[in-house]
Amino acid sequence: MTSKELQRTIGRTGTLTVAGHAGTLQVAVKVVDAKNAWGNTRYEVVPIKGTGRAWVASERVQLDPVDETVRQTSCAHCGLDIEGIAPFRPGTWRDRGNNATTCNDSPRKHAPIKE
Ligand SMILES: [Zn+2]
Repeated sequence: MTSKELQRTIGRTGTLTVAGHAGTLQVAVKVVDAKNAWGNTRYEVVPIKGTGRAWVASERVQLDPVDETVRQTSCAHCGLDIEGIAPFRPGTWRDRGNNATTCNDSPRKHAPIKE
């Protein structure tokens, strides 16, 4: 995995398989860090419920699919057509003309109009 791909896994949720003595657990986890170690990808995960953190082989984590929903609307500040991708974090909306995240006439970040 490239460092950019590793970066993109941070914050994602998934299911960690934990083999027990006579059975297997599927635990919901969140990836908090990722690295390559001797050619293998490893994730540092924390449980969604519970405590602790652990580095595990990436093969043991089934990542949840990424929501790539796109929403097109207008900027509440400058009126330009803007586009956002789930989860629609503030400051990530881009206008479709020059792909900028800030308004033309001010240093403000584009923000979607309320629906
Ligand atoms: Zn704007």
